[in-house]
Amino acid sequence: MAAQHVDRRAPIAGETKMFGGESFDFDYESLWCTEGRIVEEFEMNQPVPPYLFAFAVGELGSREVGPRTKVYAESVPAVLDAAAQEFAGTEEMIRQGERLFGEYDWERFDLLVLPPSFPYGGMENPRMVFLTPTVIKGDASGAQVVAHELAHSWTGNLITNKNNEHFWLNEGFTTYAERRIVEVVQGEDRAALNIGIGWRGLNEEMERFKDNMEFTKLKTNQEGVDPDAVYSEVPYEKGFQFLWRIERQIGRPAFDEFLKKYIATFKFKSIDTETFLDFLKANVPGIEKQVRLGIVD
Ligand SMILES: [Zn+2]
Repeated sequence: MAAQHVDRRAPIAGETKMFGGESFDFDYESLWCTEGRIVEEFEMNQPVPPYLFAFAVGELGSREVGPRTKVYAESVPAVLDAAAQEFAGTEEMIRQGERLFGEYDWERFDLLVLPPSFPYGGMENPRMVFLTPTVIKGDASGAQVVAHELAHSWTGNLITNKNNEHFWLNEGFTTYAERRIVEVVQGEDRAALNIGIGWRGLNEEMERFKDNMEFTKLKTNQEGVDPDAVYSEVPYEKGFQFLWRIERQIGRPAFDEFLKKYIATFKFKSIDTETFLDFLKANVPGIEKQVRLGIVD
C-alpha cells in the first residue's frame, strides 16, 4: 500500500515548475511531456525525513496477513504463501507496540519481501517495511527483524535523529523497543538471549575501535568522516544498554510512562542528544545523580 496512490494521468504542461524544472540544464519540460508518458501520483499524509523515502518496482503480488498488513513479494504463489505464514503474527506485534509506546500513527504496516540482492536485513520505510528474503525460514523467527522495523515506527520514524551524529537516538531506542516487543511475543528467554548476543557484539566493536575511541561514543563527531566507514553496533547496543540502565534505575513502570511521554512530545520531529537529555532530566528529576548521563559523549 505504502503512500496512497491518488492518480494515474497524462503529464500537464507547466507542472515541472513545481519541482524546479526550470533550473535544470536540459529541457525538463519537453522530457516530462513526451508523448506516451504517464504520471503516477501518490500522497503521503505523514511527514518523513528523506532517508525514509524509497521506491520498489517489480512484478509483485500480495497476501493479507492482518487488518493493516499485507505482505508483498515477487508474484510467485509459493513465495507469497511462505511470507504470509512467516509474518502471520504481525498484528499482535503492532498491538503490543501500541500498548508500550502509544498509538500506531502510520495507518498501514505493510511488508515487502525483496529479492536476495537486498543488502540489509530490513529497512524501516514508513507504511511499508522492506525485508530480505533470508528472514523467511519457515519457523516465524523472522518476526524478530519485523519487531525491529516495527519499533522504528515510534523510534526513528516518529522521532528522528537530527543528523547521523545522533544516530543512537534512532537505533538505541529501536533496539530497546524491539526487545520489549520480542519479550512479550516470544518470551523473556528469547529477549535475554538477544541482549546477550548484543552485548558480545558491542564488546567486539569496542575492540575494533580501540584506536579510535570517538566511535565508541553514543554521540559522535563525524565531521569529515564517511558515516558508512564508522557504522557499527555501538549506537544500537550501547544505546540499548544506556536506556536499559535508566529503566533499571527508575523501574519499568516509570520508564514506560517516560517513554510514552517522550514519543508523544517529539513525534514527527527531528531531535538531537541534548534535547533528549534535557527532556529526561526535566521528567525524571535527579536522574543525573543516579546514572552517569555523561557517557553519551
Ligand atoms: Zn534499525
